[in-house]
Amino acid sequence: MRRSDGEKGGLHKLVMGVILFFVVFLFAIYIASNSHEANKAIEDLKASEQISVDSKGLIVAGDNQVNSPGDVAAEKRIRVVIDPGHGGNDPGKVSADGVLEKDLNLQIAFKLKDRLDSLGIESILLRTEDCNLATEGATNKKNSDMKNRVAKINEVNPDILISIHQNSFSDPGVRGPQVFYNDASHKSEEYALLLQEKLNAINPECARKAKCDNELYILSKSTCPAVIVECGFLSSPEDVAILASDSYQYELADSIAACVKEWLEP
Ligand SMILES: [Zn+2]
Repeated sequence: MRRSDGEKGGLHKLVMGVILFFVVFLFAIYIASNSHEANKAIEDLKASEQISVDSKGLIVAGDNQVNSPGDVAAEKRIRVVIDPGHGGNDPGKVSADGVLEKDLNLQIAFKLKDRLDSLGIESILLRTEDCNLATEGATNKKNSDMKNRVAKINEVNPDILISIHQNSFSDPGVRGPQVFYNDASHKSEEYALLLQEKLNAINPECARKAKCDNELYILSKSTCPAVIVECGFLSSPEDVAILASDSYQYELADSIAACVKEWLEP
């Protein structure tokens, strides 16, 4: 009886072993076929230039200008690059009471991204924290920062670059937002004039004129249409007070985003 029980036990173990082997074998085939399909899907997308894989292996959206309107991939194309000016060791302009331009720029940039998101317009920020884009160890940090910003903008190649800044002037009575453009780009000028009109409507007593400045580095080096929005004057206590408020920052963001939509889809 004992021996027979032993044989039964051995047979049982053998059967269980064979079943386990097949389960593991089938599972391995399943995983291999799925990963093959995923790899094939990525290869197909790479071949159609809808994506590319960066040096860290992250999938990044490609430039899908060749796609027809309504194409799902085309809708995902980054249409706006938002550049929050300055950052890190470069504060930009500073108000009499210590408000830093770099901080206002980033706050307004985040709100602009939020508004563009709600309008279904894909955008990215060149920085999302208090830093600049200078290469580590660069001898001229400002030069390196500006070069790297332009390189990123031209790599993404959006429909428009919107660089957010704050102004300053010797007369504290001078106020209001002002848009700068390079007149080598007709599209930049068109957007700048349209945006200036919208910004003037927020606070008509501070109305200004859009200004052409072909010396501004980021405007002349960006290959896409580009504007700098100087949201207000840090030399004006009245401007500083409203620029620091969430509600005014949202008003600016609303105008800039609505203007992008109107300009992209007239
Ligand atoms: Zn600035």
